Amino acid sequence: MAYCRNCGAEIHDEAVVCVNCGVAVELPKKTNPNDKKSGGFAFLCFLIPILGLILYLVWKDEYPLKAKSCAKGAIVGVVLGLIGSIIGGILGAVIGMGTIAYLEDPALFESYEYLMINFI
Ligand SMILES: [Zn+2]
Repeated sequence: MAYCRNCGAEIHDEAVVCVNCGVAVELPKKTNPNDKKSGGFAFLCFLIPILGLILYLVWKDEYPLKAKSCAKGAIVGVVLGLIGSIIGGILGAVIGMGTIAYLEDPALFESYEYLMINFI
């Protein structure tokens, strides 16, 4: 049994209008019983963000909660992927430049070591 959101009178589940006050009854949204948040799909889409985008577009009407899980996973995956590649790129550049500097002048690093030992 549902209740009228206007006057609070009990109304039949399938009623469209409240018999007490005549206000239209807000029908509960039909939800798909197979639709639920999915951590598994979120993780899958985290690993393969493009799959998350596709699943989101395919499921957003029929399985909105599942689609949301996929979208969230994909977004987190893309953001972490970007951060990871930026950090990876910086680390690679630093290591690369360090290696080049070392190959060009190993004495430079010996003086670094000397500085570290003496001042730290
Ligand atoms: Zn009513």
